[in-house]
Order: sequence, then C-alpha cells, then structure tokens
Amino acid sequence: MGLLKNKYAIVTGAASARGLGKATAQMFAEHGATIAILDLDADAAKAAAADLGKGHVGLACNVTDKDACNAAIQTLMDSWGRIDILVNNAGITQPLKIMEIEPQNYDAVTDVNLRGTLYVSQAVIPGMIAQKSGSIVNLSSVSAQRGGGIFGGPHYSAAKAGVLGLTKAMARELAPDNVRVNAICPGFIATDITAGKLTADQQQMVLDGIPMGRAGAASDVAGCALFLASDLSAYCTGTEVDVNGGSLIH
Ligand code: NAD
Repeated sequence: MGLLKNKYAIVTGAASARGLGKATAQMFAEHGATIAILDLDADAAKAAAADLGKGHVGLACNVTDKDACNAAIQTLMDSWGRIDILVNNAGITQPLKIMEIEPQNYDAVTDVNLRGTLYVSQAVIPGMIAQKSGSIVNLSSVSAQRGGGIFGGPHYSAAKAGVLGLTKAMARELAPDNVRVNAICPGFIATDITAGKLTADQQQMVLDGIPMGRAGAASDVAGCALFLASDLSAYCTGTEVDVNGGSLIH
C-alpha cells in the first residue's frame, strides 16, 4: 500500500458506479493519492469523490469541451499546485455496423474517446513539463487491436486505435521531460458500458473467446492503471498493456 502517496491524480469518467474509472480512483485513493473525478454531471462526480473518502474532489467536465477541460484543470492547479497523474478514462461506445454509422455517431464516439483524451491531456501537460514528472494513462480497447468484436462498432475501434497512436506520439514527445504516457487495452470487462446490452448467446460467445474463461473485473483494469501511474513503471512509456484474460495472445 502507499504506491501513490502525496500524488495528485485525475480520473475522467469516474462517476459511473461500476465503471473502470471509479475502480481506478478507488484503488489510487487506497494507495494514498488525492483524486479528482471529472465527469459530465457535477453531482454525480461529487458523490463519487465523496465515496473515496475525505479530501477528494468531483468536478463537472465534458471532456469534448476544450474550455471546460482547461477550466477544470485550472481549478485543480489552483488548489493542489500540481497534477501527477491523469487517467483518460471517459469513453462511450455504440454497437453499430459500418453502414449504420451516421455523422452524429462518428462525432459522438470519436469526440469523447479521442478528442477528450487530447483535450484533457493538453490541459495537464504544461504543468507536468514544468515539474518534470507526470504519468498519463489512456483507456484504449482490445477493439482497437482486433477490429471490434465485443460491442463497439468500427467508429469505436477507430477512435480507440486513434487513442493508441496519440498515446505513442505523446510518449515520444514528452519523454525528455519525464512525462510518461501509456495505454491500457481492456478486453471484456463487466461494467455498465455493456451491462444488459448483450444477449446470453452473445455473452457466451465472448466468454468462449477468452482463454481465462471469465469477464474481467473493473479492479483488474484498476490494478494495471495503478502500475502505470506509479513509479513501479518508471521506465515504461508508449506501451499498450493488454488486460483481457488472454483474448489476444498472438
Ligand atoms: P462506463 O459507461 O461505466 O463509464 C463511462 C463514464 O464516462 C461515465 O461516467 C460517463 O458519464 C463518462 N462520460 C461519458 N462521456 C463523457 C464526456 N463527454 N465527458 C466526461 N465524462 C464522460 O464505462 P466503462 O466500462 O467504465 O469504460 C471506461 C473506459 O474504458 C472507456 O473509455 C471505455 O471505452 C473503455 N473500455 C471499457 C471496456 C469494458 O469492457 N467495460 C473495454 C475496453 C475499453
């Protein structure tokens, strides 16, 4: 315990009660970090932050809105003076086939997953460069690596593949300033993003493709995020870490 003592961490999209962001925020808090949860709804973000214990912060921030991202980060910088860790977790998906993707579907999915990752990163990077340290963890997906297959449509695969490219390019550019950027590619994890949206048959098909024979738990992803956020991964940057029960062994 205590891997993130005295660290200040932001997790976006962490208001979802059973989500990966909330589990990550919880584990970071258990390891001593002070957390800010950024999500669409202020009350939900504050309630989630209160669940973590005292001293954590919940703020409304639509990650697709650059001004909102800058304002939220400024608020945190004013009160904390530094940001050590950013987890770009906010994301949405839609189960569409290629010909079903309308412009508004493309915009919605690409904006939250990719543009949001860019905007919140841009808001924290100057501070991280100035303090010559920082860790950014981006949530991609197995969908980026294998072309969908679980739930997300091609626009989701493309957005999450974009997140991988952005991760590697940011890692390369920011490495001289000791700012590390890594991505996590979760497989099938039981959260509200898919809850109740898969038929029993679809669910069984997904499980049949997982060598470990079970869906992941949110804490499985949180553990990986903790590793990438902490100094345990001090020499890792530009990596993509699979958290998928072996679904993509190749
Ligand atoms: P979730 O639906 O439980 O939570 C997503 C959260 O993002 C919600 O709290 C939502 O309010 C927030 N959000 C949505 N749009 C936002 C915006 N514009 N600004 C700020 N917040 C916004 O999802 P989850 O399953 O916990 O997924 C978390 C991340 O992991 C996502 O990026 C998702 O694509 C990725 N992922 C999940 C799985 C899985 O199996 N659950 C697999 C691979 C990748």
